[in-house]
Formats: sequence, structure tokens, C-alpha cells
Amino acid sequence: MNLLEVSHLKKYYETHKAVDDISFSIQQGSIFGLLGPNGAGKTTLLRMLTGIFYPDEGKITFNGHPFDPEKDIQYIGYMPEERGLYKKMMVGEQTLYLAQLKGLSKKEATSSIKYWFDKFDINSWYTKKVDELSKGMQQKVQFISTVLHKPKLLILDEPFTGLDPINSEMIKQEIFNLSKEGTTIIFSTHRMEQVEEICDHIMLVNKGQKILDGSVAGIKQEFKQGLFKVGLG
Ligand code: ATP
Repeated sequence: MNLLEVSHLKKYYETHKAVDDISFSIQQGSIFGLLGPNGAGKTTLLRMLTGIFYPDEGKITFNGHPFDPEKDIQYIGYMPEERGLYKKMMVGEQTLYLAQLKGLSKKEATSSIKYWFDKFDINSWYTKKVDELSKGMQQKVQFISTVLHKPKLLILDEPFTGLDPINSEMIKQEIFNLSKEGTTIIFSTHRMEQVEEICDHIMLVNKGQKILDGSVAGIKQEFKQGLFKVGLG
């Protein structure tokens, strides 16, 4: 079953075509790599999938019905590239606030926070202010804040930027675990090796357009055989 179906999506900034007629679908439970160079249109596309932007044209179907940002946002977790934590708030109260914003009761939120803080061994961070944490530590808090409400669709924009190898590995394992549990994941990056390592499906975009779309294994094979000529210039 497809959790997400996107049809002829377009978004223009005045006359600039940031997303130019892109269609694709994502199977439930898959890890979908969105790959493209800087300025390709990845963030603009993700913002339409999270209801931050309305498309100029096109259709998004989420979980079998037309995407309704107001209702569906509670089923989506979005970790944006520019991290969105409140720097002056304590980590504990911030995660509680963010989980409640996503519809969890205080009890559910507290239990989910405990689960993730134990798992990441960061209980000593509860009473620290976000701006007392390093960038990498903030990134872990951001990741946890994004998954606390068990989203059906988890959207990660460059989740490893600024993380050391150990913490990158930790987050990577959690991505695999969540996928195994049925969470559908969009993993946006400009690094092919990350897509190869983590994703089962890849969509390559450039200059607002879809260049290719398919299984990672199939596309690697076709690259090897020289069937694709992808101009990213
Ligand atoms: P990066 O990997 O650098 O974040 P991206 O693939 O996420 O890039 P977008 O941020 O979606 O790409 O930008 C797509 C295009 O739209 C770029 O050419 C960018 O300059 C342009 N753009 C993005 N935001 C705006 C805006 N608010 N106003 C005008 N143009 C914009």
C-alpha cells in the first residue's frame, strides 16, 4: 500500500520553478531517499508534504485520502534542515511541549520521552537549556522530538549534518528500527552514499525536476550498465 502519492506537484517562487511537475509514490514502511544537489528543490518539496507550503498545482494523497495538513500533521514527523528548537527552553519541557503539540496527552508524552531518553542515555539533559548543548546534541534532541508521537511518515532533511560518526550510526539504526516497525521514511540528502546505505528507494531531483525514480538496487545496476546519463550541471 502507498502511504503517499504525489501527482504533478508544482511550486514557483515568482517565475522560478522550484518544484516543476514532480510525481511519485511511497510504499508504507519504505525508506525513500530524496537525492539532489543544493538548490534542487528538495526542501520546497518537503515543505509541501508537511503542509508548510501549499502547492501551486498538483495533488498529494496521504494514507488514501487527499492530504489535509490540519488533520494529517499529527501523523507526520518533520526534522527540518534548519533545526527548530527553542534555545532558551529546557530540553525536558521542550520535548514535552512538542509532543503535546502533536496530540499526545501529558502522560503519553512523558512515557515516550522517557523511552527515548533512556534509549539515547541522555537523562542528564532534561534540565539543560537547548543552547547549553552542542549542535550534535541538539540534533539528537531534534530527532527525538520528531519521533515522540510515532508518526506514520517521518521526514528527515539531512539528519546527519553536524553529527559525529557514533551519533550518526545511532540515528541510522533508529531509522532502520522505525522502518521495520512500519514507519514510512523520507530521507533527504545530497549524498549518494547515504542513500545507498540507508534507503530502499531513490528519487533524484535537479532544478525542480525528477531525473529518476526507482529501487536503489535496480538503479545501481542500471548505473553500472551505463544505462543512465544524469546531467546535474
Ligand atoms: P539545499 O540542499 O541547498 O537546501 P534544496 O534542494 O532543498 O537545496 P530548495 O531550498 O527547495 O532546494 O530551493 C529550490 C530553489 O528555489 C533554489 O533555486 C532556491 O534558490 C529557490 N528558493 C528557495 N526558497 C526560495 C524563496 N523563499 N524565494 C525564492 N527562491 C527560493
